Amino acid sequence: SVRVRFAPSPTGNLHVGGARTALFNYLFARSKGGKFVLRIEDTDLERSTRESEAAVLQDLQWLGLDWDEGPGVGGDFGPYRQSERNALYKQYAEKLLESGQVYRCFCSSEELVKMKEIAKLKQLPPVYTGKWATASDAEVEQELEKGTPFTYRFRVPKEGSLKINDLIRGEVSWNLDTLGDFVVMRSNGQPVYNFCVTVDDATMAISHVIRAEEHLPNTLRQALIYKALEFPMPQFAHVSLILAPDRSKLSKRHGATSVGQYREMGFLPQGMVNYLALLGWGDGTENEFFTLEQLVEKFSIERVNKSGAIFDSTKLRWMNGLHLKALPSEKLTKLVGEQWKSAGILTESEGSFVDEAVELLKDGIDVVTDSDNVLLNLLSYPLHATLASPEAKPAVEDKLHEVAASLVAAYDSGEIPSALAEGQSGWQKWVKAFGKSTKRKGKSLFMPLRVLLTGKLHGPEMATSIVLISKAGSPGIVAPQAG
Ligand code: GLU
Repeated sequence: SVRVRFAPSPTGNLHVGGARTALFNYLFARSKGGKFVLRIEDTDLERSTRESEAAVLQDLQWLGLDWDEGPGVGGDFGPYRQSERNALYKQYAEKLLESGQVYRCFCSSEELVKMKEIAKLKQLPPVYTGKWATASDAEVEQELEKGTPFTYRFRVPKEGSLKINDLIRGEVSWNLDTLGDFVVMRSNGQPVYNFCVTVDDATMAISHVIRAEEHLPNTLRQALIYKALEFPMPQFAHVSLILAPDRSKLSKRHGATSVGQYREMGFLPQGMVNYLALLGWGDGTENEFFTLEQLVEKFSIERVNKSGAIFDSTKLRWMNGLHLKALPSEKLTKLVGEQWKSAGILTESEGSFVDEAVELLKDGIDVVTDSDNVLLNLLSYPLHATLASPEAKPAVEDKLHEVAASLVAAYDSGEIPSALAEGQSGWQKWVKAFGKSTKRKGKSLFMPLRVLLTGKLHGPEMATSIVLISKAGSPGIVAPQAG
């Protein structure tokens, strides 16, 4: 049966790369009727914290990636934190010592440094060449009696190669002659990361290991440990890196890279999940809009691309906009209304003003926090600036300059503000009179008005905009600092 795991190290926030790995594991499990396990890799006790574990769990929950086994839900293969599984690691390390596949190495760190320097001078790979790989029982006994600290070193075959069949990358193979005997347990009795992961994946009956490409070198060591412990090997799938638009490794200097940051910026989990899925996967059609349920239905690991995926925050915004507009209208209105209230633009988060404003403005909103500016733009109509806006200016200079002058005059004299204050009817009355006096109607009348009020040649319907603008003047709707 299919059992996959996401194995975050709780040393920071959940990054988009980790979130995508979690998502692919989740989709694989759900699409195969398998289990999605969450395991916390907190062997690095100095860097791991419970706060960051909690933050990672919160981010996964926010994305909707619920796990079947792991912290908070339990399961038959626990405990699900590596720091609670030490006895198990020790047990398997002893097993390897008994079978001779690991040996005790009493080399001091000075000796190891020297070995590396010599290898470097001779231009040889930095593999372990110490005597403990072949030491006699008596030599070992002697050091044990002296109490000399020792590590457990894995006996790597000195020649040959190892290959795996990666579900994304195809055949991957390594020559073993350059690997060298690596440490599996430190002198303080702490097993190393690769050993813990192997024991965990095997004892948790993980069938498919889907993780980032950067773990490929670990896979080699882990595969050797699988063989030595006679564990059945899982299938591996290494997902390509996420790159910045300049094709360098995505990092903080490229802007927000953690899921929590996007949540705080007002992104929707639906938009995030959809965008993450497209980083290296597509269903083979032009369609890019997917809900989580649709992704479960469509996902297949064979369609995951092996080349690096570019993280494009503009596309993420656009994608979020699609999901925002796909929300049921009450939900969207509630979300945006609360945003306006919390931003201090409105005094109430609901009511007919909010309903009308959301309906009018939703096309201009990709992320809920965008709605602040969209509403403020509507409510504040800095006339002289709007007439000079980059979009409006050419039209004003070309065809509208005459009417623009009359509009400015009508505005400055207070005629327009008082018409607006009277609401839709006051406004309509004024527009009619203005049309008459300037001999304009239809488009040639309404276009200049739109430009005057919004600085744009196109936009939300004017009549509704005007109503909103005029209502904004009445007490109890727009917070005093706005506009
Ligand atoms: N703990 C590792 C990480 O955070 C994941 C290891 C794995 O998936 O095997 O990158």
